[in-house]
Amino acid sequence: MNSARVKVTIRCRSCGDKFVLRGKRERGKIDTGFRQCVCGNADRFDIEENDA
Ligand SMILES: [Zn+2]
Repeated sequence: MNSARVKVTIRCRSCGDKFVLRGKRERGKIDTGFRQCVCGNADRFDIEENDA
């Protein structure tokens, strides 16, 4: 099983906060464990994937 490590920048579209997380890419999906912003926004994000 290959799982690529990726660095992901998540920007909240609600309050503008940015989070830089490390995640794993598995079967085309990225799992970072991120669920919601501190402001409560849980589904409006800009997500940018960077090769670690
Ligand atoms: Zn936010």
